[in-house]
Amino acid sequence: MNTTPPPPSELPVTSLPGVGSFRAQALGAAGIRTVEDLLYHFPRRYLDRSTIVPMTELYRFLNQTVTTIGRITGVVTLGAKKKRLVVTIRDLSSSMDLVFFQGISYWQKSFARDETLAVSGVVTMFGRRPNMVHPVIDRLENEETLEFINTGGIVPVYPSSAELEKAGFNRHGGFRKAIHLALQRHLADIVDPFDDPPAAADGETRATAAPASIRDRHALQPLRDALQAIHRPRSMEARDVARKRLVFDEFFLLSLQLALQKRSNATAEPGIAFRIDSPRARALAAALPFTLTKAQKRVLREITADMAKPEPMNRLLQGDVGSGKTVVALLSMLVAVDNGHQCALMVPTEILAEQHYRTIAAMVNDVGLNIRLLVGQQAPAMRADVLAGVAGGTVDIVVGTHALLEGDVAFHSLGLVVIDEQHRFGVMQRAALRRKGAMPDVLVMTATPIPRTLSMTLYGDLDVSVIDELPANRKNIKTAIRFDDDTATVHEFLRGEVAAGNQAYIVFPLVSESEKLDLKAATAEYERLRTEVFPDLRVGLLHGQLPAKEKDAVMMRFKRHELDILVSTTVIEVGVDVPNATVMVIEHAERFGLAQLHQLRGRVGRGSKQAWCILVTSRAAFYSGGSKSADEWKEQSDARKRLETLRDTLDGFRISEVDMEIRGPGDLWGTAQSGFPELRIANLLTDGDVLAEARAEAFRIIETDPQLRLPAHAQIRAALGPKLRARLTTADIA
Ligand code: ADP
Ligand code: MG
Repeated sequence: MNTTPPPPSELPVTSLPGVGSFRAQALGAAGIRTVEDLLYHFPRRYLDRSTIVPMTELYRFLNQTVTTIGRITGVVTLGAKKKRLVVTIRDLSSSMDLVFFQGISYWQKSFARDETLAVSGVVTMFGRRPNMVHPVIDRLENEETLEFINTGGIVPVYPSSAELEKAGFNRHGGFRKAIHLALQRHLADIVDPFDDPPAAADGETRATAAPASIRDRHALQPLRDALQAIHRPRSMEARDVARKRLVFDEFFLLSLQLALQKRSNATAEPGIAFRIDSPRARALAAALPFTLTKAQKRVLREITADMAKPEPMNRLLQGDVGSGKTVVALLSMLVAVDNGHQCALMVPTEILAEQHYRTIAAMVNDVGLNIRLLVGQQAPAMRADVLAGVAGGTVDIVVGTHALLEGDVAFHSLGLVVIDEQHRFGVMQRAALRRKGAMPDVLVMTATPIPRTLSMTLYGDLDVSVIDELPANRKNIKTAIRFDDDTATVHEFLRGEVAAGNQAYIVFPLVSESEKLDLKAATAEYERLRTEVFPDLRVGLLHGQLPAKEKDAVMMRFKRHELDILVSTTVIEVGVDVPNATVMVIEHAERFGLAQLHQLRGRVGRGSKQAWCILVTSRAAFYSGGSKSADEWKEQSDARKRLETLRDTLDGFRISEVDMEIRGPGDLWGTAQSGFPELRIANLLTDGDVLAEARAEAFRIIETDPQLRLPAHAQIRAALGPKLRARLTTADIA
């Protein structure tokens, strides 16, 4: 007979009373499979009794945002032409109206008499009655309302979804009950990684590594108390204390992972100590048609200093679009080549690979080296030829896509790996490319300006260089928002630019290259533009589904100014460099993410001429109007915020912060796919201090106990999860 209960991390949610297979399935779809997962499903916000305003007091809060609670006593539609839905709610003191102008039929169906609502919004007065227009609404269950109102408690509001609500997990009652049960029955079985192990065998270890001292140093609550309090806080202050502990844990585990990675980078065999005096680099620098900016010179010094050291370089080169990263990378590559080593430049798209290949080939024409291209869609004979040269050592620089990662690509002597536009590649791919050499130096380049907190977490295992200055000849790009019922003016503007000898991009959204409908729409628009709107201009089409040869041909024609207008999907998003292009028109701009819009805009303004970015959207997507559900509302207001942000600033860092605000900390540039764990509670924008503390502890622990073998660290090791534990053993062999 087995008497030890399985830990909450291995107990399925169905072990809780009231959770059957149907409900478990809905939870599972939301990523909640075990009792532990449920305990880590944190409230999105709280309703705090102490901040609830009784309705008689509302008039004091005119034009301020407050929360009040009441029971629905009436639901009516008023007005003839301009209809509105008026929902009357009442508390013990008085009553008020909630007013809806949009989504009337949706809202009407969703309210029932006698239902109790917590509403938050801006207080206005209509005649002598207090009003809220389109408030945020939380439905309360009766029993909890009573408890809430009578005890002055705090009600957690959980994130939910339509599917979860169907299974009974609405934002209050359902989750609250299940989590309450989970806390009651299983909280005691949760292991706090910062508890000192019950019987530390050797006293010395204990003295040096006692994890409980981590809690003391950072004033952290024990984990079980924090989990209890985050779900059922006695006060908002208690919630804050609990939250800090949970945020710390999240950053701590993440940092442990990075510390392990960094250690495995550093303790691996020695790499190459390059001589940094490079005749080829000097020759190229002297031949450039421009002088390097101060920032370019500085990062180049940082990179070459790394290269001169025997430890393998792991450096991130961050610089906004157009800051001139390519030439920095190229000069670094020439250093490696002059030391008799090969270089690989990996980029995310074939178009970009082609472009880099050509620019670099043209630039190094006079310094004498062999550069080749390796992409997926190459003729077998060509590919074999490139592979032979790479393996034999006659190829000095190979530019390619992830085709470079394939098994048959072997290098004679890979000395430097440069990865461009890193956010498209994962940590694993970085490691895969590096393994193709004997400890080559690695330089990762990204144009995504990311807040420091994020780079510390995403690239915590890398050293960072920043190009924080644009070449002096740049003019500020002017950005405007235009509606799709006014394309004539946009087209007229394009004509003017073309007449002045400039070129333009028109970009259509194609979220994934396989989306046939989008592709059809973009192609149809291209035909219309080519034959009806600009029959006298040279218009080309570029999208990801074209054969590589054709893509290349179209891009070359645009580059050589044999085309005036390039109609394209987002395949041109990263890296494409045609300085004579001065206008970027983005159609259906509301469908793009902010980082993507910023990247697209970065395709223009790369020369000394005034450049323009025109964001085309529909009035419906921009203005609130029509009948919309709550989700559609949010989508519309987020879209508008994205476009306005782009219009109002060129500052990549500001843009990335707004992007983080809109997306929330859990969804950053598709980081899920790069192996970046989702943050459940920590906020990269606001929890920077806790991140720094947690990071310091994690790195300290890995330094003193790289394999987490000390008995004192057994629970920390356990908390890391099976995937990361596996990494502990690979850290030494990698
Ligand atoms: P990104 O950082 O976006 O990759 P690129 O390396 O493509 O930027 O550079 C953008 C453009 O600026 C290129 O045409 C490049 O030749 C040019 N450029 C790079 N450095 C300078 C400089 N110091 N002065 C003027 N132009 C430069
Ligand atoms: Mg680039």
